[in-house]
Amino acid sequence: MNCRHNKELEYFVTEAKKVTDKGKVASYIPALAELSEDDLSAAVYFTDGTCISAGDVEKAFTLQSISKVLSLALVLIDHGPEKVFHYVGQEPTGDPFNSIIKLETVNPGKPLNPMINAGALVVTSMIKGETNADKIGRLLDFIKKLANNRSITVCGKVAESEFETSMVNRAMCYYMKEHGIFQAEVEDVMDVYTKQCAIEMNSLDLAKIGSVFALNGKHPETGEQIIPKDIARICKTFMVTCGMYNASGEFAIKIGIPAKSGVSGGIMGLSPYRFGIGIFGPSLDEKGNSIAGIRLLELLSANYSLSIF
Ligand code: GLN
Repeated sequence: MNCRHNKELEYFVTEAKKVTDKGKVASYIPALAELSEDDLSAAVYFTDGTCISAGDVEKAFTLQSISKVLSLALVLIDHGPEKVFHYVGQEPTGDPFNSIIKLETVNPGKPLNPMINAGALVVTSMIKGETNADKIGRLLDFIKKLANNRSITVCGKVAESEFETSMVNRAMCYYMKEHGIFQAEVEDVMDVYTKQCAIEMNSLDLAKIGSVFALNGKHPETGEQIIPKDIARICKTFMVTCGMYNASGEFAIKIGIPAKSGVSGGIMGLSPYRFGIGIFGPSLDEKGNSIAGIRLLELLSANYSLSIF
């Protein structure tokens, strides 16, 4: 992709990098512990097809929770909102992304929203396909279309590392299965979910996917309406209310754009009609968001008046 290195963006990246040592890389998925703490890169893909970047934007990373918004879009296209929201709610939780507590205390078994792990596991269980390979294949094809890049793949090492260690996610699946939220076999859901989280791309791809949401589901390069407008709207709303986990409220006040983060340090954001932004900074704050990524968005939002509110 033709993306020009930009001095102004580089300035903000250098500024934001100063906080990387206040965070830590995720280590509960063993393969993620190998990421380097002081990395920070960003790409901005404008809806007119131009692109600017700073840092090593070719470096690949796994989507982790960013994939939740993409699997949600696919499942909403497959089944429609009414069916999907029968099984998963639409309210923020205020709890960490992997918390199990509200599964028991509120509306037993039905997760509060699709951006927390419990809700995302339900969404993954709804991806259409005969086999696990068909399901992950369909999601991957959809994501390749969004990034307009056929070479996006699943990182086998990260998928395996999470599959072998992800016991709380399994526990949530069993709890929800007990309550009839899904019928699928837990190990099958975990297989597709861990591969979904391990889909790998770079900040440029992520910025481009953000720009599709910025244009309400229409691809700026191909002109194709990949996500129907009403579904793109639902996804963007979840990004605002739940996209940055239990830091979404503060993020909305300080930065004010739809965004979704993942524990590998990725953030996908967008400014409506203007651009998508892809950030990779693996050092995380205590809530699991890229610490320098948030700092960078704070600087950009203040300097370019990005808040939608
Ligand atoms: N794969 C990760 C998990 O389920 C995703 C979490 C995240 O990025 N917040 O724990």
